[in-house]
Amino acid sequence: MPRLGVIGWPVDHSRSPAMHNAAFAALGMSDWRYQHLPVAPALFRETTLALGRAGFLGANVTIPHKEAALALVDQASEAARSIGAANTLTFLPDGSAAAENTDAPGLISTVPCPTKGLSAMVLGAGGSARATVWALLDAGAREVSIWNRNPARAEALASELGAGAVARAVDADLLVNCTPVGLAAGFGSAPLQRSASELTTLNQLALTLDQVGKYPYVIDLAYRDGPTPLLYLARRHGAKTVDGLQVLVAQGALSFQLWTGRPPPLEVMRRAAEAPIAAKQQ
Ligand code: NDP
Repeated sequence: MPRLGVIGWPVDHSRSPAMHNAAFAALGMSDWRYQHLPVAPALFRETTLALGRAGFLGANVTIPHKEAALALVDQASEAARSIGAANTLTFLPDGSAAAENTDAPGLISTVPCPTKGLSAMVLGAGGSARATVWALLDAGAREVSIWNRNPARAEALASELGAGAVARAVDADLLVNCTPVGLAAGFGSAPLQRSASELTTLNQLALTLDQVGKYPYVIDLAYRDGPTPLLYLARRHGAKTVDGLQVLVAQGALSFQLWTGRPPPLEVMRRAAEAPIAAKQQ
């Protein structure tokens, strides 16, 4: 029985098992299983290597283990090495593992406009911002600017990857939110409650309403039931938007293809990932 899973800490809220198991069912791969693998940081190395010896084919890796996953392997793709993090491990017959980063190509596959020559404004300087900035530059973006709450982190990331750090968000073709801002409960259907959430989101991201309206394309990596306040506002201004679930499905689909060699059933995976989203994230 081929086994796969997602290693994280905590990880119980991950939508990946639902997404992959639905894909196996849809393709008649009835003996395949994908499960949650909660592993504390102190046990990551020995537990992960033991998974390979226990017959697991591979695993996705999520917070807080993506850097540790790269450090675990001798074999890693150029993308994983350049980003400094891996989200997909494939266990090899000799007990070692190979690392890939499908976050970067997954994100690029969802960008709703040509990436060559694109200008992009990235909010955040954590792990997902790092993959996003690298992926956009690698895909031919002309200019990538980074804003972060802690400006020193934006400057460090920008100088490492060849992007620019900015004190406030600047105009660009594409806006990508790589922070958890907008996830907090309270973005309900009542107009007052909604506008309070919108305001909080904009303040936390140092954005103005006018400015949001100037981005023709907006991606929000954070996902929740219904649109995040940022996506809601962007859509109201006519922007073409991509939600975090689309990005989650895209990276999962690439991992699926890597392990199984089969084309992933994207719609099936999306529907499974959409089924009740927990408050916490991937
Ligand atoms: P990290 O913890 O590595 O980075 C978090 C970033 O968000 C930092 O830049 C941090 O700024 C910023 N931030 C956090 N809280 C606030 C706030 N209140 N106001 C302003 N900025 C804030 O997280 P990740 O980069 O891994 O993840 C970020 C988000 O993206 C999460 O919601 C995660 O679930 C989502 N995600 C979605 C994926 C998908 O497939 N859809 C994939 C990966 C992530 P500072 O440096 O100042 O602390």
